[in-house]
Amino acid sequence: MCACRCGINVHMKDGKVKYIEGNKNHPVNKGVLCAKGSAGIMQHYSPARLKAPMKRVGERGSGEFETISWEEAFEIATNLLAPIREKAPEKLAFFTGRDQSQSMTGWWAQAYGTPNYAAHGGFCSVNMATAGIYTMGGAFWEFGAPDWERAKLFMIFGVAEDHDSNPIKMGLGRLKERGAKIIGVNPIRSGYNAIADEWVGITPGTDGLFILALIHELLKAGKVDLEYLQRYTNAPYLVNSDPKSPEYGLFLRDKKDKPLVLDRKTGKPVAFDKPNVKADMAGTYKLKGIAHRPVFQILAEKYLTDAHTPEAVAEQCGISAERIKRIAAELAHVAFEEEITIDQPWTDWKGEKHNKMIGRPVAFHAMRGISAHSNGFQTCRALHLLQILLGSVEVPGGFRFKPTYPKPVEAHPKPHCAVTPGAPLNGPHLGYVLGPEDLCLADDGSAVRIDKAFTWENPMSAHGLMHMVISNAHAGDPYKIDTLFMYMANMSWNSSMNSTKVMDMLTDKDAQGNYVIPNIIYSDAYSSEMVAFADLILPDTTYLERHDCISLLDRPICEADALADSIRWPVVEPDRDVRCFQSVLIELGARLGLPGMVNADGSAKFEDYADYIQNHERRPGVGPLAGFRGKDGKGKGRGEPNPNQIQAYIDNGGYWIDHIPEEAAFFKPWNKAYQDWAVERGIYDSPQPYLFQLYVEPLRKFQLAAEGHGDVQPPENLRQQIKDTMDPLPIWYKPFEEEMVDLEEFPLHALTQRPAAMYHSWGSQNAWLRQIHGTNPLYVSGDIFAAHNFKDGDWAWLTSRHGKIKVPVVKMDALNAKTVWTWNAIGKRSGAWALDERAPEAQKGFLLNHLISELLPPKEDGM
Ligand code: SF4
Repeated sequence: MCACRCGINVHMKDGKVKYIEGNKNHPVNKGVLCAKGSAGIMQHYSPARLKAPMKRVGERGSGEFETISWEEAFEIATNLLAPIREKAPEKLAFFTGRDQSQSMTGWWAQAYGTPNYAAHGGFCSVNMATAGIYTMGGAFWEFGAPDWERAKLFMIFGVAEDHDSNPIKMGLGRLKERGAKIIGVNPIRSGYNAIADEWVGITPGTDGLFILALIHELLKAGKVDLEYLQRYTNAPYLVNSDPKSPEYGLFLRDKKDKPLVLDRKTGKPVAFDKPNVKADMAGTYKLKGIAHRPVFQILAEKYLTDAHTPEAVAEQCGISAERIKRIAAELAHVAFEEEITIDQPWTDWKGEKHNKMIGRPVAFHAMRGISAHSNGFQTCRALHLLQILLGSVEVPGGFRFKPTYPKPVEAHPKPHCAVTPGAPLNGPHLGYVLGPEDLCLADDGSAVRIDKAFTWENPMSAHGLMHMVISNAHAGDPYKIDTLFMYMANMSWNSSMNSTKVMDMLTDKDAQGNYVIPNIIYSDAYSSEMVAFADLILPDTTYLERHDCISLLDRPICEADALADSIRWPVVEPDRDVRCFQSVLIELGARLGLPGMVNADGSAKFEDYADYIQNHERRPGVGPLAGFRGKDGKGKGRGEPNPNQIQAYIDNGGYWIDHIPEEAAFFKPWNKAYQDWAVERGIYDSPQPYLFQLYVEPLRKFQLAAEGHGDVQPPENLRQQIKDTMDPLPIWYKPFEEEMVDLEEFPLHALTQRPAAMYHSWGSQNAWLRQIHGTNPLYVSGDIFAAHNFKDGDWAWLTSRHGKIKVPVVKMDALNAKTVWTWNAIGKRSGAWALDERAPEAQKGFLLNHLISELLPPKEDGM
């Protein structure tokens, strides 16, 4: 398996890696390999590979280390971590940049007992994931995909070319072959947008406004799928509509707590899941003098207002009203006039039979470009609302989930944060809150977690907030920690943090001359920027020297038609004194005596990561790998551990795949055959059918608290923000940064995107990629270029209210007129990554990180 998820065959000669090719049978890439995958050989033999465990001997940041043995490294780590666990486990903050083994690292942190654990999703994908899970039980990213074989119109928002790239490239190829239309919405016309049939160069941060205008047009024209909305969504749920009621905005429920809908035949309220009921989506139902109205009616009124007309938003979005109207009409035409059907009978969750599958061949996909803005959560929700109104999710031709998704929000864990010294945490760290009572708050209202995830400031931070750990630990807010333990976490050079300030915080000392963050343990395979700031280095292997698994417990490699997972196994013996980080964690866990990692006699339960992969059971019969389970290797999804499981994967090309029965392939949240199959495969233990939530009631519960209802109350300074932003129906508001600056003084948007040729900073291991991306200019729109009389190669000051940098400029016309941008992860700290001190990456490459702050507004302490 390659660096992220594609299948590869590695060819060896005389014990050396000679050639890497795509694995033709692998479900992810079907033999396709991107340029960085082919050139992985340079990553494997990189001069920047760490060679042995090290302890710091000079000042932090100086890069002065002494090589030590693994035994000494384990002793140092154990001596630091054992006393913390006994007294105050929260004083360990454990955060990992690479999240492909998150189910394992999270399990370790839970056994240790600290609440302070997360991976990098908190600054990367959290808006997208939460919006998707709360709204429809699944999200974009790698958790779903367009129906590449049937979609006729494909709209892609804010997608860079580096992620899931081979499947998307192959999919785009299929669309083009079949003559489907591709519309790319992105301020920058590069990559996928360059091959789109139509490019919409939107102004950054306004995607939600544009989408809500499309929704306005569709509602006005009556082009929404009422049958789909009535059957598969909460559009008919009755909502308390009396502003004086303490339950204003909540669903009307029966005695069993089931939301009620109005039966169109009888005019009476019935439970939402009663079979053979056609629910009303308009009207009013009064109970004890309180009016209740269906979600759909409230929704239609909201988006049909003048504020959402194309004319009202055109200027702000940088898209003409005529164009918005035309795109809405195209979406409607393809969805409803080019409907497709598959003659496949299926039975729904209520037992009602359908003799065919009706599809609306409009598919969407989106990524960081929309989710990374401070209004990204609601923007992603708006896009899901658009998809659902068109009836194009989980239908032929639309957007489809990849198992283990879909899964309703209630089937996910809630966050856990109860700490007991010397014992495990009370449950998984990360999850989905259903109301203020699920926040991770101490009795005095302060944050329990060092990153302040699941607080009133960040209530739905389902992936944690890794980018806040260093600044909060430095500020001692909400408390001081003892040890920061990080794995492959170079985030202040990967666009989410202010690099200069982070270096200051890592090296700052208190009045007694001690580091403000007392101990830092760091693991990486390469001498990345973070290495110089750690006290103890645990060197990891390269990806060709280790076992790994892409597990159904994490981010699997599934496609919409099949369940799949895969492994990586060592093809090269390390020629250095390095160890797979996950094996190191397992040994460290055994030395610390963590539950689940030791036998009754205190001996280590697992020999290494491979042993864990094969023998760990998360629930009885369910483990990291779903294929070839049971003693006979025939178990699918469930079955006792198989001592030959890894070999079975190797014999099968490194992956396991199990196709979904045809009857179960679409309408998964409501399809009885799919639900039963998912239970058989161990995805969940009982069927979990659910309806899409156009109106997200948990959001309304936060608003109600901000309005003064309930026991768990927000602090005064956040009341208005909660009221304004946590609307149960998608809304648009200006990104926070834009709200806070004088737009006359700072009229431009600055973006950064990851090059297709790089995978984070790791790309700098690759000599030929360095020739393409050894430096990065600031790309400037034609309008801005002309206004400043620039010539290509001129240097200009780029300033924000947080800092300024001098950068070379280049003109780019395929760019939103108010935008400048550059590639991220090109600029490097001098001396890092084993690059020459005069390397262009260190001397000319630059990062926009110098212009940002993790906190909006920035605070005096820390950031
Ligand atoms: S997309 Fe990622 S995993 Fe696939 S070949 Fe390229 S580098 Fe490897």
